[in-house]
Amino acid sequence: MTTIYNFNAGPAILPAPVLERAQHELRDYHGRGMSILEMSHRSKEYEAINNEAEQRIKRLLGAGDDYHVLFLQGGASLQFAMLPLNVLPPGASADYLVTGAWAEKAYEEAAAIGRARIAATTADGGYRRMPAPAEITLDPDAAYVHLTSNETIQGTQWQAWPDAGDRPLVADMSSDIMSRPIEIQRFALIYAGAQKNLGPAGVTVVVIHDLFLKSASSSAPTMLRYATHVKNRSLYNTPPVFAVYMLNLVLEWIEAQGGLPAMAERNTRKATTLYQAIDAAGGFYRGHAMPESRSFMNVTFRLPTEALEQQFIAEAAAHGMVGLAGHRSVGGVRASIYNAMGQEGCDALAGFMAEFVRRHG
Ligand SMILES: *Cc1c(COP(=O)(O)O)cnc(C)c1O
Repeated sequence: MTTIYNFNAGPAILPAPVLERAQHELRDYHGRGMSILEMSHRSKEYEAINNEAEQRIKRLLGAGDDYHVLFLQGGASLQFAMLPLNVLPPGASADYLVTGAWAEKAYEEAAAIGRARIAATTADGGYRRMPAPAEITLDPDAAYVHLTSNETIQGTQWQAWPDAGDRPLVADMSSDIMSRPIEIQRFALIYAGAQKNLGPAGVTVVVIHDLFLKSASSSAPTMLRYATHVKNRSLYNTPPVFAVYMLNLVLEWIEAQGGLPAMAERNTRKATTLYQAIDAAGGFYRGHAMPESRSFMNVTFRLPTEALEQQFIAEAAAHGMVGLAGHRSVGGVRASIYNAMGQEGCDALAGFMAEFVRRHG
């Protein structure tokens, strides 16, 4: 096999040992003579996976028994709607911190379902940063405050959480969950589609505090109520068994690497390697994010012309570095460097960036 460095934004790179383990176990899961894809979700094998994955998420996040872990479907995009359907009662209003393409979508969905307010926006200048505390005006009665911890498309990330006071804080953590330790106690609910940093597409992780759950409405359709899935431990209907199985293997891999402090240390070093390559190029590369809001997961930058960007992406691919095209709304280059990307991939890309400037700068 040739070495490929996979910088895709999502679905994204998975740890090689996890893929090998899944391959090894696929045909004959734990001596049962069949694969996990072919077993009942009520089997003791799948129940063990479901429970392990739940316990691992709690351990890694430091979440106590006052939190519930759910494995749902519909992606983070369904959470944009499921959240207000559960915790935005008629007459109430929710506050949204609108910091990029994903936060915009979350806000628009809430505004279609109930009353949503923009408590801060950094749209001016093209979402290059997260808002400063003084730019955030919260509604004292907000049902909750919603933020997007990492804007996957723009390449910005909250480096310090805003103060929501005693309002419940909710975060879409799809593209940086498990990349660094978080103070889970600050959050009433977090959610994440798995396909960036946790596993394959098909499962969405929701972690919800018990008090927030108790405040939820019971008028949403059964499948769209958090309470349904808490009560049934994510087994109300057939779960995406293979996606949860893969998720559990990825979580086991994260624990074996040293957990979230180890992930944060590696991710900081990887991102620093790439940002230094941007900053050392004398203006040839222009980072999209302002330095204080730079993402440690998605590194976005432009080159002097679109033609050079196309050439950069094509030549990088020829060197085995794939998935570098920026999202069409931002353009340029985006290197997604989730947990499973090693330092070697970032070193290779930084080396290529320096060499590209020598030829074209
Ligand atoms: C990818 C992404 C989403 C959408 O996730 P789906 O699982 O495709 O619905 C939402 N928010 C963020 C921050 C993302 O990166």
